[in-house]
Amino acid sequence: MARRLSGKTIVITGASSGIGRSTALEFARTAPDDLRLILTARREDRLNEVMAEIRAEVGPGVKVLPVRLDVSRSDEVRGFVGGLPEGWREVDVLVNNAGLVKGVARAPEIAEADVATMFDTNVTGLINMTQAILPIFKTRPDGGAGDIINIGSIAGREPYPGGSIYCATKAAVRSFTDALRRELIATRIRVIEVDPGQVETEFSVVRFYGDQSKADAVYAGCEPLTPDDIAEIVVFAAGRRENVVVADTLVFPNHQA
Ligand code: NDP
Repeated sequence: MARRLSGKTIVITGASSGIGRSTALEFARTAPDDLRLILTARREDRLNEVMAEIRAEVGPGVKVLPVRLDVSRSDEVRGFVGGLPEGWREVDVLVNNAGLVKGVARAPEIAEADVATMFDTNVTGLINMTQAILPIFKTRPDGGAGDIINIGSIAGREPYPGGSIYCATKAAVRSFTDALRRELIATRIRVIEVDPGQVETEFSVVRFYGDQSKADAVYAGCEPLTPDDIAEIVVFAAGRRENVVVADTLVFPNHQA
């Protein structure tokens, strides 16, 4: 697998924490000799910490470029792609991981601003990034290979009370991903979705506006996945032989109802 990933340039959104951070580390561990990782998120300090972790763990064979980027801002996304330095422009893999949930509440009580934030980030942000990166794949000298790996959610398949908007965003991700895969069938671009169940990350606290006791209650009776569990699946999918598409994977903890 290291051989297939070696030499690749990989963009990860939401790489400052949780699944995105773990995915960066897992790519680095898997192909430590020759890899370029472009780590994006809004919190630059956290991206720099992830870069330092990678350097400490795998050494200088993995080149890391941290870039502050809000995926919901199409102007920033365009500027990001246009501003990639020489040597970093031939992106091979895009991991669309950035996402969030605002609160758990019945549909009528969800604030308009929170609805907008969830859709702008989880759906429009993912589409912004995909639209910006696809032309790079198509113009590559090697004939247009590339991977789009979208992090959806079990919530996009099994909507739950109190999560209507978040679930709707992840259902939209699923629908977009399926359509894109069909549009690109028989090209060398693979479109992949990984749908996690409960994973212990900052996500569970963000969801409750920082209230740790409410976050802890989410995992009562269930041992959640770790972000590494999801990172391993993402890297596995990217490391398959070009003709193999790990198209659609649902991963949840054994005890999740
Ligand atoms: P985290 O909160 O740890 O990570 C979310 C990441 O998204 C952060 O790096 C954050 O970075 C980034 N992000 C949020 N908004 C934006 C934005 N507008 N622009 C750029 N980056 C942004 O949570 P997870 O690691 O758990 O979440 C990762 C993905 O996994 C999400 O798509 C989530 O929906 C999905 N998921 C999570 C599950 C879970 O149980 N944890 C279950 C199923 C799916 P920053 O704040 O620095 O911008």
